[in-house]
Order: sequence, then structure tokens, then C-alpha cells
Amino acid sequence: MRTKVILVCEECLSRNYQTTKNPSKNNERLEFKKFCPSCNKYTIHKETK
Ligand SMILES: [Zn+2]
Repeated sequence: MRTKVILVCEECLSRNYQTTKNPSKNNERLEFKKFCPSCNKYTIHKETK
């Protein structure tokens, strides 16, 4: 079973991306560097519920 997670920009808190993860394999909070349209640059995006 996979859990849906939302990735939010750390700088402006925009919910820019949606992904899934396997909770049994990955207990840590995901962190990706992705492009944020609001900031107009690459920022850290963190998992939120
Ligand atoms: Zn942003």
C-alpha cells in the first residue's frame, strides 16, 4: 500500500507537487529539490500530510 503525500515549498509553502510513498519502506520525511512556480526558482520541497 502506498500513501499519498503532498510536497510543499519550504519558502512560500505552496503545495506544488504530489507523490506517493511506501510507508513501510520509508519512514522519514521526504525532501526534494524542485522548481517552485511561486518562488520562480528551485527550492526544497518537503512532505506534508
Ligand atoms: Zn515557493
